[in-house]
Amino acid sequence: MALTGLEIFKLLPKTNCKKCGKPTCLAFAMALAQKRAKLEECPDVSEEAKEKLAAAAAPPMRKIVFGKDDNQVQIGQETVCFRHEEKFHSPTIIGVTVSDKLTGADLSERIKSINALQFERIGMKIGVQAVAVVNDSGSTEAFAKTAAAVKDGSDLALILITQSPDAIAAAVAKVGDRIPLLGYAEADTAEAMAKIAKESHCPLVAKAESIDALSDLSEKIAGCGVEDIVLTLVGSSPRDRLYGLSRMRVLSLKKVFRPLGYPTISFVTEPDADTQVASALSLICKYSDIVVVDTVEPYALLPMLTAVMNIYTDPQKPVQVEPKVYTIGEPDENSPVMFTTNFSLTYYTVESDVEASRIPSYILVVDTEGTSVLTAYSGDKLNEKIVADAMVKYGIEKLVKHRKLIIPGYVAVMSGKLEEATNWEVMVGPRECSMLPKYLQEVWN
Ligand code: SF4
Repeated sequence: MALTGLEIFKLLPKTNCKKCGKPTCLAFAMALAQKRAKLEECPDVSEEAKEKLAAAAAPPMRKIVFGKDDNQVQIGQETVCFRHEEKFHSPTIIGVTVSDKLTGADLSERIKSINALQFERIGMKIGVQAVAVVNDSGSTEAFAKTAAAVKDGSDLALILITQSPDAIAAAVAKVGDRIPLLGYAEADTAEAMAKIAKESHCPLVAKAESIDALSDLSEKIAGCGVEDIVLTLVGSSPRDRLYGLSRMRVLSLKKVFRPLGYPTISFVTEPDADTQVASALSLICKYSDIVVVDTVEPYALLPMLTAVMNIYTDPQKPVQVEPKVYTIGEPDENSPVMFTTNFSLTYYTVESDVEASRIPSYILVVDTEGTSVLTAYSGDKLNEKIVADAMVKYGIEKLVKHRKLIIPGYVAVMSGKLEEATNWEVMVGPRECSMLPKYLQEVWN
């Protein structure tokens, strides 16, 4: 259990020396209990106290990493129940199943379909990140063989799903070097599964039908020396599962209840793609760290991945596109040049309106830390020097032979200074970029 501020205070040197930046040891103890301070900030804490305080200082939810190299994924490490309180740290991983009943061309086709579930949205890549090999056959040999085939055919992170310790051991022998997530240990297989997980340095899924049973099981597995545990709550209706996951999240983060201080995995078992979307979306919202589905329908995966992207962006950081010169159509040395900011919504609105004009163009995207045109201008993140520097940095002069720059109508006020800074003729575009097609047709055709 987490220590209270007063319990922590009793373990501190009580000299009020202020080296930690807090006015008193009590203030530091309170900050530590609320996870607003780190134990290392007190240089005088004793080794004995350090050991006792380590639990209080540890994050409420453990970070788990599995997969290797490019396919490594991270879950957990969450500190808040609601995104607006700070931010979420680890986006939900979407995984897709591969049954070990599949063989030959069917197996290859399934792996290929899963690999293809990658999309681009507002300039960012989103996609399935894990493949879950499921021991539907009940055969140890088939499970290990399928795991090996998935390892060879896909770069995605691996999850191994069976209730048999023998099957897990056989599969780990084939794919253990990829650090798969091993699932699953139940009350009667906990020791055997924990032994394999510990020896292979792989994280282990604990599975139970109630929160109480799950916390008992995670304590049992931790007692076997496995630190990286993922929890799965099964056997309940979607409604009960949502309540169960929410309760577990509150207990782990607000009450710092260590047996539940691990990320979760959920398996969507609905029979068709449409109902799998609904179930997965509910699990992504609250609070599954990995959601495994059966469907490989792109139309079903896209809303899941979009939901993950929207929920897990940092609310304090606007979504940005890369500052550079973007080409619309096939522009040449006579094509118009305009600039906008690197706030994604601004850029993609401008891009679609320039496309609608059917005039091939260059759009210079200036780094304004992801803010829109007016916000950037009023915060001095967009001025004549920043635009002039970006024009030089991205080699605009070499792309066109004219010297005309179209600027957003909202910052017409900077046109004079921009002309002085660049020696380019500045043309003030429309305030609303929905007017860009008409404007470009009129001034550039
Ligand atoms: Fe107390 Fe340690 Fe902070 Fe000094 S540095 S005030 S001893 S908690």
